[in-house]
Amino acid sequence: MQEQQLQFGTRAISFTTHYANRRSMGIQVRPDGTVHVIAPNDTQSSEILKKVKTKAGWILKQQDHFTSFLPLTPPRKYLNGETHLYLGRQYRLKKMESVSNQVKVYRGYIEVYSKQDTQEQINLILQDWYKSRAKIIFNELFTETLQKNHRFHNKKVTLHTKVMPTRWGSCSPSGRVTLNTELVKSPKACIEYVIIHELCHLIYPKHNKRFYSLLNSIMPDWEKWKERLERGMV
Ligand SMILES: [Zn+2]
Repeated sequence: MQEQQLQFGTRAISFTTHYANRRSMGIQVRPDGTVHVIAPNDTQSSEILKKVKTKAGWILKQQDHFTSFLPLTPPRKYLNGETHLYLGRQYRLKKMESVSNQVKVYRGYIEVYSKQDTQEQINLILQDWYKSRAKIIFNELFTETLQKNHRFHNKKVTLHTKVMPTRWGSCSPSGRVTLNTELVKSPKACIEYVIIHELCHLIYPKHNKRFYSLLNSIMPDWEKWKERLERGMV
């Protein structure tokens, strides 16, 4: 496996080649933006480069699609006064000594009660809290969305919550909707947007005209919330 680069306009495409016992070449763009070429064992490197060149436009489009869904949260140090987000609002971290672990949201503060105040311990307690809040809030919004929209009434769907490093949500053809736990840091409307987007995929799997007209009919201001998500989080 070796990494190579190809210049395309103002952008460079890095890709790795994997040789395999197969007949034709294939290109994958993974959600982390990496590009993988799978080539038959005896392929010349010039042929590979040619293939990547012809697919360059598509590769860049795929990469842009994935980065637009990347949650952008800077690393946290878990110090007093540091800002942490919850449902689109900023709260200051306040570490409190206590015999039991607990998190409370109170007057602009996220209070973390803990025996030890090490960075690791506070991080752990806070992540657990975000996870449990995410489950509760996502479930509420999911149920509401399903009830409000008759288009989804005959669909069999289940909701799952998971930390996903590169996407906000996903939907499988079997009706399994997965939401990124990190969404609990965004405004409720952003969470609703991702839920509606994923549910629309149950009816139209691809991002085509019909998909967008359904999305528009359910959430006319969806673009505003998508942008809010993409702008990242401070
Ligand atoms: Zn989609």
